[in-house]
Amino acid sequence: MEKKLNAIVVKAVNYGENDKILTLFSLEEGLISARIKGVKKAGAKLKFASEPFCFAEFILSSSGDKNTVIGASMYEGFYSIRESVESFYAGACVLEFLSKFALIKEPNAELFDTAINTLKELVFTNENKYFSLLIFFVKSLKNTGYALTLSGCQHCGEEIKTRAFFDANTGAFLCPDCVLENAIEVSVKTYALIKKALNEEYEFALDEDLFTDFYLKRALKFIAFYIEDKTEEKIKALSDLLTL
Ligand SMILES: [Zn+2]
Repeated sequence: MEKKLNAIVVKAVNYGENDKILTLFSLEEGLISARIKGVKKAGAKLKFASEPFCFAEFILSSSGDKNTVIGASMYEGFYSIRESVESFYAGACVLEFLSKFALIKEPNAELFDTAINTLKELVFTNENKYFSLLIFFVKSLKNTGYALTLSGCQHCGEEIKTRAFFDANTGAFLCPDCVLENAIEVSVKTYALIKKALNEEYEFALDEDLFTDFYLKRALKFIAFYIEDKTEEKIKALSDLLTL
């Protein structure tokens, strides 16, 4: 049986001498793996479709649980993402997140759009790469069931203005008056940036340098902590990005 899928290559692993096994994140079926044959030979016609970041319409031949890529027409290869080390690792974070948190055979159009739009922003605009990635993470965590609660202090309901504390058990922030024993202090700028990333109103702690790489990387470090604490998964590309 043949089928067409709009998908992005999130992972490609060598298989045998000339083949690869691709992990595709598709609009129609969520995560799906497929073999692509002969792509390591010189001049292979489908080589482009075996590279991570390739966004294409894939034609798959399927029998049972086995899929083989037999054709592809590319929408976007995102080749120039490799021209900046920050863009490359930020893009790698997007792919790794999809490979770990998207579901097999379960379509998720919102996550798909968020991922493609983030890659476009990383490659084709001058937006701060760290902020684009922060937006991707907070939206996608929400989409996959790991939402951060950002409506002020979870206990008293007041907006957090000066110092922010985070309760990892509930994924919620607390003010200094309501802080619990196991909560950790998080920079109020991190809290502000995460609210901004979700397009929520916030008028405190917003001095001019809020959007600097320093504060954005610190916010991403918090996201790395949160993902690992909540899911026991680690986004390796994020650790790499943060040590640049
Ligand atoms: Zn409070």
